[in-house]
Amino acid sequence: MGELSGKVAIITGGVSGMGLATVRLFVEQDARVIVADIQDEAGAALVREMGSSVHYRHTDVSRASDVEAVVGYAVETFGRLDVMFNNAGVVANAAAPVDFLDEVFTGADREIQVDLYGPLYGVKYAGRAMARQGGGSIISTASTAGFVPGHGIPLYRIAKAGVIAMTQNAAVALGGRGIRVNCISPGPIATPIIGASMGIPQAKADAIGKASFEMMLDLQPLKRLGQPEDVAHAALFLASERSAQITGVNLPVAGGQSLGADLVDRTAVLGQIIGGILAG
Ligand code: NAD
Repeated sequence: MGELSGKVAIITGGVSGMGLATVRLFVEQDARVIVADIQDEAGAALVREMGSSVHYRHTDVSRASDVEAVVGYAVETFGRLDVMFNNAGVVANAAAPVDFLDEVFTGADREIQVDLYGPLYGVKYAGRAMARQGGGSIISTASTAGFVPGHGIPLYRIAKAGVIAMTQNAAVALGGRGIRVNCISPGPIATPIIGASMGIPQAKADAIGKASFEMMLDLQPLKRLGQPEDVAHAALFLASERSAQITGVNLPVAGGQSLGADLVDRTAVLGQIIGGILAG
């Protein structure tokens, strides 16, 4: 029997990248999964491939009514909702990264709508369903960009920081109703996300992703590029009873990038300098 036997999960952004890897792992562990995404053709293909354990609902997570509807679908279809994985996300303007002085702040910014309001709607509507049944696990995908400051994509960073703050506050607010709320902060993970916002052919998107993520390896003590499955395994842990006593946690899956450490070892040079001073 799988670790998620009898459980029902919604996975937003489940047709690509780490969401897709999580769909596959959750089904392998006997969950029934509702994939909530905006790529309808890919969603239909996934249902054909995976069979009756996977359902697909068109869901734009930036719309509260869509998120409410997919939660309603889970409860009507399966009678319950055990796991909400708020994973859908976008990096807007990836083709022309901007900083604070160049960004056009409109108030309707996609990163805020999708990356921050999406998880907020997830907590609200999944939380209501879980409160009625006496508990559940809400997981969101934040990012190391939400707590290790850096250059570029300020709205993305701010939205992800908001997801971490939301997680901690919702864990406090909903704990009394048996609802655990945690988030995962991936570092660079090999997915199509950077090319996805550019509307370019897949081969070019993949090449851009590869170049971008390889460059970011400099930030990690572990020189291994993260894979979607690494995040899926963290999500399985937070979804399953193995993490029954864990709430309010931001779990990095980042090869150590989350430490924000200076990775240049200066001890040898410093030793020479000190040796020189002592000898002189
Ligand atoms: P991806 O592009 O492979 O997958 C994102 C999925 O979200 C896609 O299936 C897309 O269709 C869906 N999506 C986009 N907008 C949506 C909307 N409005 N409503 C519903 N679905 C929508 O990217 P990924 O890398 O697997 O990203 C998953 C999550 O991980 C995102 O929240 C992202 O910000 C976060 N993240 C990614 C990385 C990385 O290096 N790849 C690092 C840190 C955090």
